[in-house]
Amino acid sequence: MMNKPLKQHLIDPEICIRCYTCEMTCPIEAITHNDDNVVVDPDKCNFCMDCIPVCPTGSIDEWRVVREPYSLDAQFGWVELPEQEDLGADEADTGLEALDEAMAALLAEAHAGAGGKAKAPASAAKATVNLYTLGKPATAKVTGIVPLTKDPGHDVRHIILDFAGQPMPVLEGQSIGIIPPGADAEGKPHLPRLYSVSSPRDGERPNYNNVSLTVKRETGGLCSNYLCDLKVGDEVRVTGPFGATFLMPDDPEARLLMICTGTGSAPMRAFTMRRQRTVGGKSGGMVMFFGARTPDALPYFGPLKKVPEALLEQHLVYSRQGDAKEYVQDRMRAEEERVAELLQDLKTHVYICGLRGMEEGVEKALTNIAESIGQQWTALRDAMRDEGRYHVETY
Ligand SMILES: Cc1cc2nc3c(=O)[nH]c(=O)nc-3n(C[C@H](O)[C@H](O)[C@H](O)COP(=O)(O)OP(=O)(O)OC[C@H]3O[C@@H](n4cnc5c(N)ncnc54)[C@H](O)[C@@H]3O)c2cc1C
Repeated sequence: MMNKPLKQHLIDPEICIRCYTCEMTCPIEAITHNDDNVVVDPDKCNFCMDCIPVCPTGSIDEWRVVREPYSLDAQFGWVELPEQEDLGADEADTGLEALDEAMAALLAEAHAGAGGKAKAPASAAKATVNLYTLGKPATAKVTGIVPLTKDPGHDVRHIILDFAGQPMPVLEGQSIGIIPPGADAEGKPHLPRLYSVSSPRDGERPNYNNVSLTVKRETGGLCSNYLCDLKVGDEVRVTGPFGATFLMPDDPEARLLMICTGTGSAPMRAFTMRRQRTVGGKSGGMVMFFGARTPDALPYFGPLKKVPEALLEQHLVYSRQGDAKEYVQDRMRAEEERVAELLQDLKTHVYICGLRGMEEGVEKALTNIAESIGQQWTALRDAMRDEGRYHVETY
C-alpha cells in the first residue's frame, strides 16, 4: 500500500548562507548540519515555525509534499532542492489543503517583518555558493589589516585575505564563513561566523585573488576578536561563498538605494567599488543612507569622503553627535521626496544591511514615505521583493 502524502519542511541549499541561526533557534533540535548542508529532521520537526523569521535569506521556507520523507542523509548530499514530485490525485483528499492554510497563516506571521523570501535581481550574475565547506575549507593568508574607526569602543577592522591559487569567486553582497580555531566546551569545533565581503568581484586589488572584510570587534565575541587580532601573514580557514540573493544588479542603469549601519556598509562598499570600476562617474544612480554613532565610529569615513558625489550620493547620519541625534530613518524622512522618487522608479533596488535593530525604524520610515505618494509600503515592498529589487540582510 502506498504511503499517504505528507508535508516536509526543507532548506534550500543553494540559498542558505550557513549562518546556523535556524539550528540555534529550533527549540527541539530538529535542525542539524553536516560539512555541507543545514537540514531539517523530518522525524522531529513539529512545524512550530520558530526558525522561519530568524532566517536572513528565506531559504528555510521550503516545503514539499512527499510520500516518503527525504532522509537526513539525502538532504546532506543535496546541492539543490528537488522539484515537487507529481503525486497524482490523492494528494487532494489527505487534509493537506487544511494544513496548507494553517501553515500559510503561520508563515505570514513569521514573515510579517521586513524579511521574507528573497530573490536575486534579474540582471545579477549567477553566484557560486558553498565551494568551501566545514570539512574542506579554503585557507587564506592575511595580507592587510587596518583599523577603520578611531572610536576605541567601536573597533572595526578592514581585513584583506588572499586565496593564492584557490579559486574564490565571490560576488558583491555575498558573505564568507570564518572558522575560529579551537573547540567549544564540549570539544566540538567552533561553527563559522559569516562576514560580508566588502570588496568587488575582481578583488580588493583589481585582478588579485583577494577579498576584504569589515569586522567589528564584539565584546566577548569569539570570532570577531580572533579576526581583529590577526596579523599580516596569519592563515585563516574560510567556508563559502554564501548568499545567492543579496546581490547587485549587473544592469548599469539600475539605481541602488542603500541603507546601512556599522558593518552593514561592507556590501555597500563592494557595490560602490564595482560601479566605480565598471561605469565610474557615469553611474549616477547610487544613494546611501549610512548611520553610525559618530564620525569616529563610521567605518570608511575617510575613504568615503573621496568618493565622488556623482557616483554615490551620501547621507552620513550620526546618533550621538552633539545634541542633534539622528538615525538613518530620520534622514530618510527628511529626504522624503528623494526616497519617494526612487521608490517609484522600477529601476530602483533597495538594500538594507546592518544590525537587526535597524529594520523596524527603517520600515516605519518607508511606510510613511510610501504613504506620501499614496502607496501601501507592505504591498510595494512585497512586489519589489518578488521582482528581486528589495534585499535585507540584518544580523
Ligand atoms: C549574513 C551575515 C553577515 C554578517 N556580516 C558581518 C560583517 O560584515 N561584519 C561583522 O563584523 N559582522 C558580521 N556578521 C556578524 C558575525 O557573523 C558575527 O555574528 C559577529 O562577528 C559576532 O561573532 P563572534 O564570534 O565575535 O561572537 P560570539 O562569540 O558568537 O558571541 C555572540 C555575541 O555574544 C556576545 N558575547 C559572547 N560572549 C560574551 C561574553 N563573555 N561577555 C559578553 N558578551 C559576550 C558577543 O558580544 C557577541 O555579540 C554577519 C552575520 C551574518 C548572519
